[in-house]
Amino acid sequence: MISSVLPTYSRAPLSFVKGEGSWMIEADGRRFLDLGAGIAVNSLGHAHPKLVEALSRQAQALWHTSNLYQIPQQQELADRLVEHTFADTVFFTNSGTEACELAVKMARKYFYDKGEPNRTDIITFSGSFHGRSSAGIAAAGSEKMTEGFGPLLPGFVHLDFGDHDALTAAASETTCAIMIEPVQGEGGIRPLPDACLKGLRDLCDEHGILMILDEVQCGVGRTGKLFAHEWAGVTPDIMMVAKGIGGGFPLGAVLATENAASGMTAGTHGSTYGGNPLGCAVGSAVMDVIADPDFLAEVNRKAGLLRQKLEGLIAAHPDVFESVRGAGLMLGLKCKATNIDVVNAGYAQEVITVPAADNVIRLLPPLTITDDEISEAVKRLEAAASSLSAS
Ligand SMILES: *Cc1c(COP(=O)(O)O)cnc(C)c1O
Repeated sequence: MISSVLPTYSRAPLSFVKGEGSWMIEADGRRFLDLGAGIAVNSLGHAHPKLVEALSRQAQALWHTSNLYQIPQQQELADRLVEHTFADTVFFTNSGTEACELAVKMARKYFYDKGEPNRTDIITFSGSFHGRSSAGIAAAGSEKMTEGFGPLLPGFVHLDFGDHDALTAAASETTCAIMIEPVQGEGGIRPLPDACLKGLRDLCDEHGILMILDEVQCGVGRTGKLFAHEWAGVTPDIMMVAKGIGGGFPLGAVLATENAASGMTAGTHGSTYGGNPLGCAVGSAVMDVIADPDFLAEVNRKAGLLRQKLEGLIAAHPDVFESVRGAGLMLGLKCKATNIDVVNAGYAQEVITVPAADNVIRLLPPLTITDDEISEAVKRLEAAASSLSAS
């Protein structure tokens, strides 16, 4: 008989009842060190006092009004995002895949309004992930996500990640946008080299193509800059954000330049919940903490420490681990053992990691993780690796 919860996930037999900072407490009382952060969502850890305060205060005042009225909390968060980024304007969603939907609509509408209605193709890359909506799965295009769900939304051109020649050949007068993650998350923590992001920007400029960056996983301080593309010194036309921006509250956004957003006039898009007062109050509190340069400097310092310790872990367990990659506190350990076995061995040592494609385990700790917690985390991973080596 089918379970009352639609069985689309194979879940670990763990059930958490409380979170404190970098820790999650299981129903049986065990304390797990959380290097997953709900898949890069709990950017400030669990129950951060500033987020609890912002949410509680808003919950006392007003939950929802709809976008038929002014929403001051939305205005405030949009102003903050505009102040700290390339963007001139922001639309709020509840998730990453909804941000993908709007990014696609915005790019196509831009060329439609410019009198180029046939310019609808969006170039995407193997190993990418843009969510589970119809546009999201069509964009990523992997068989695993699309099989059985056709007809798929047309107009996506799928290229191999890193195939520069194919990319140059594919960019044409029917290309409206290139959509890419600066650091692939689900694809196994594959960072796009800065030079490639610069090259992509040049290619887009040369052909008048819009650049859409999917920073749903790598954005909001995760790589040690507020947004990952800042490392390469280029800016997109449109950017998808979600996960970390809500710190655990469902919140996403599309950020855009005035030019790229020019087609999105009144009535062209909407969302009942998107940008509701609760989500935006929390989002502003997240931005207050993460946009601080001192906070980001600490993320970078701690990332260096974690990476150095992981190098030691790999050297000590070459039978389990192969290499470390990624940026900031978005790190992937490429495994020699099967990644799921490593994740499960971690559970036995009360440390949470997240599997990804390419036989990688992801380490996406809260950006607030302490030095002591980093040491403890690597100790637990060490114990997990030893248990695998012994077996
Ligand atoms: C998680 C993710 C999405 C989808 O976000 P949802 O909130 O699950 O819809 C899209 N793009 C990237 C890069 C992601 O990591």
